Amino acid sequence: MAELMPVEAALAALLEGVLPLEAERIVCEAAAGRVLAEAVPATLDVPPFDNSAMDGYALHHADAGRVLPVAQRIAAGAPATPLPRGRCARIFTGGEIPPGADCVVMQEAVTVTPEGVAVPADMPAGNNVRRRGRDVTAGTPLLGAGQWLEAAALGHLAGQGITAVTVRRRPRVALLSTGDEIVAPGQPLGPGQIYNSNRPMLERLLARFGAEVVMTAAVPDSAEATRRLLGEAAEAADVVVTTGGVSVGEEDHVRPAVEALGRLDLWRLAMRPGKPLALGRLRREAGGEARFVGLPGNPVSSFVGAWLFLRPLVGALLDCPRLARLPEISARATFAAETGPRRHFMRVRLAFDDDGIVAHAFRDQNSAVLASCIEADALAVIPEHGRVREGERVRCLWLQLL
Ligand code: AMP
Ligand code: MG
Repeated sequence: MAELMPVEAALAALLEGVLPLEAERIVCEAAAGRVLAEAVPATLDVPPFDNSAMDGYALHHADAGRVLPVAQRIAAGAPATPLPRGRCARIFTGGEIPPGADCVVMQEAVTVTPEGVAVPADMPAGNNVRRRGRDVTAGTPLLGAGQWLEAAALGHLAGQGITAVTVRRRPRVALLSTGDEIVAPGQPLGPGQIYNSNRPMLERLLARFGAEVVMTAAVPDSAEATRRLLGEAAEAADVVVTTGGVSVGEEDHVRPAVEALGRLDLWRLAMRPGKPLALGRLRREAGGEARFVGLPGNPVSSFVGAWLFLRPLVGALLDCPRLARLPEISARATFAAETGPRRHFMRVRLAFDDDGIVAHAFRDQNSAVLASCIEADALAVIPEHGRVREGERVRCLWLQLL
């Protein structure tokens, strides 16, 4: 039997020579879940002017402790005029601090009299003032290349008045489901047949990773069909993903087809679930090549394989370090486990108790049981020839996007 390939070696081989995809310009409305291809500098101070953090009265701090007549009213969005000393301005949250004022007293702290507003003494300059440029200073970097655009980053871009950004093109993925027994939902199920759970599951995972599934196909268990569809997929996609058909059974046609169209790098991985995992490349007619990832047929194995391999691959194509790196979390195991030559990725649920984060393993870790993936928060990693005892800390891959 050939040596088992360590997970890291397989990943390194998969990522070798992967270059970031080209950049494209898109409107910010469409930028959620995309990755910046170039840094965005700040051109505006945010906030753009000193403004009030409270509803209250703006004044010069040296006038605190006196009764000050109200000289003007400044609502948010209204212009402010210079404030003479000995006066105050009625001001509302977000209102511009008028020239001449340097602090705000909140309205609950004053007494309004017919002569003016009695302001308490000892008001420091800057009190309740949100300084211009406190959030963002013009001329500094706003967001860096490789930034994944989520809610707050989109807000930050809008805060600069930016309407378009340069992002990486989304990786195009072809998803091929092998197996004569696989049937699409909506079709009747014949004897010996099962519905295709991998396809929607992987489509969703890939979409979350920022990729675009441009082709899906069911591949019958025949050498000819496998080869033809893999060829078509290589033309259409940056990454060709198959599920099933990568064992050594006589109905497993993926391996010879990939070898005929390009090359297959690896075969048996030191991991569980998902030992039969194939990584390779497929040549295109016009030159260039598509990356090939052959995931196992078992839905749990293909879920874990997608997390361990497709996510870093998509991360590399998008040049997004945070996506390429798998988030980790350390937890106290409430279970005991040990494993042989294959690293075990156990589906666990995370919880918090008085001592911190704990990992509860699902009882049935069989790779045919997809139900536990629904509730799993993380994959606890039991190293090759390693063990974890109850109460010990265990490294977990946290099934979080970022
Ligand atoms: P294979 O790697 O082709 O031998 O498949 C391994 C197991 O996974 C078999 O029991 C298949 O029926 C099952 N399987 C393969 N592809 C899928 C799929 N797309 N959805 C659900 N189960 C699958
Ligand atoms: Mg099969």
